[in-house]
Amino acid sequence: MYESRLAYEVDRIHAAAIYCSDGRLGEHFDDFLQHGLSLPRYDRVTLPGGPACLAGHPQAHLEEQGVVDELKFLVEVHGLKRIVLIAHQGCAFYGTRLDLREPRLELVQRADLVRAAAFVHRVTGLEAVDGYFARLVDGRIRFERVQV
Ligand SMILES: [Zn+2]
Repeated sequence: MYESRLAYEVDRIHAAAIYCSDGRLGEHFDDFLQHGLSLPRYDRVTLPGGPACLAGHPQAHLEEQGVVDELKFLVEVHGLKRIVLIAHQGCAFYGTRLDLREPRLELVQRADLVRAAAFVHRVTGLEAVDGYFARLVDGRIRFERVQV
């Protein structure tokens, strides 16, 4: 048996974030969303590549359907009002599934954030959709706003 020391809070924050499931960045994403954007208890939608699956790549068509269903559920049942999309530098999804290399890889990721934000807006009707790019700088992760 293991009991978490963290208190359970009932209230929802009505925000969700979509980001890559890469475990090396999980705590950084949490830190950014909870402290950088002041979104404690935000809903997490994580999968390899994160918002890449919402940018219209045929290689991620199955994932797209799953995430769209999940987002619609969260809007309807959790009363979602805001969605944050985050891409991260050197994402393996882009290197392997989409076979991209730098510097083109980052350009495609940034364009994908714009495409994914428009798509999320279209399928959920939400206006508040933001994009960020997580960059490794001197052993730290820096979150840069991307205009979407
Ligand atoms: Zn990744």
